[in-house]
Amino acid sequence: MTPHSLSQPVPAPRLEIRNLVRHFEGRAVVDDVSLRIQAGQVTCLLGPSGCGKSTTLRMIAGVEMQDSGEIYVDGKLICDTVFRVPPERREIGLMFQDFALFPHLSVAENVAFGLNGPREEKRARVEELLERVHLTRFIDGYPHQLSGGEQQRVALARALAPRPRIMLMDEPFSGLDNRLRDGVRDETLSLLKEEDTAVLLVTHEPEEAMRMADEIALMRGGKIVQQGAPYNVYTRPVDRAAVAFFSDTN
Ligand code: ADP
Ligand code: MG
Repeated sequence: MTPHSLSQPVPAPRLEIRNLVRHFEGRAVVDDVSLRIQAGQVTCLLGPSGCGKSTTLRMIAGVEMQDSGEIYVDGKLICDTVFRVPPERREIGLMFQDFALFPHLSVAENVAFGLNGPREEKRARVEELLERVHLTRFIDGYPHQLSGGEQQRVALARALAPRPRIMLMDEPFSGLDNRLRDGVRDETLSLLKEEDTAVLLVTHEPEEAMRMADEIALMRGGKIVQQGAPYNVYTRPVDRAAVAFFSDTN
């Protein structure tokens, strides 16, 4: 009898990047970075400013080209040095610190922005997401009527509305004041988990990675120097520089 576990095909990761390299002005700012993220999982790319986090994210989004390396989604190649699926066809949701809402569109119109299909279906999706970020009361409101934290939650709803396979988030909470940040982080995390997307969250704050990540990839000088569960990365730092980075409270 074949053991059940052996006959199960192992699913390909939702997102896999292999050996990504990107040079600027003769310098490798992303230097052989590989990552695998399953659907439903949050990986934090954590590291100091300038270490290559945003460049890595932009290559996955398709707005920056790698010099070498490959990107796969659900086991399918979407980008190498000769073949390239354009950004708008990658089914990737994006959220950046200054990825502002459209000021002239209502909250509902903002959330519906990337949606196609029948009006009623779009409306149902918008209502569902606004309920889940507890902003139903603002459905016909406009961005300027919302606080910074509320605007971030609308931006999250907008990014998730088309059910992206992957969410890329680049320091999405750094514009928020401390008082709001933890609440928005927690709410964001629970919504991401419900949506079952693969998340790559870029941050330079260890605390944020510890709070949100299933896995931390610690980056320095263009390379991933350590990778693992937050507790393991925190309690077993790879070297002195990692200790210093984690104990620096900014
Ligand atoms: P991080 O997001 O970790 O702060 P970045 O990926 O933005 O780092 O940048 C990594 C390095 O690459 C930095 O030294 C930055 O100055 C450099 N860099 C990024 N984009 C460009 C560019 N378009 N041209 C030249 N250098 C760049
Ligand atoms: Mg950056």
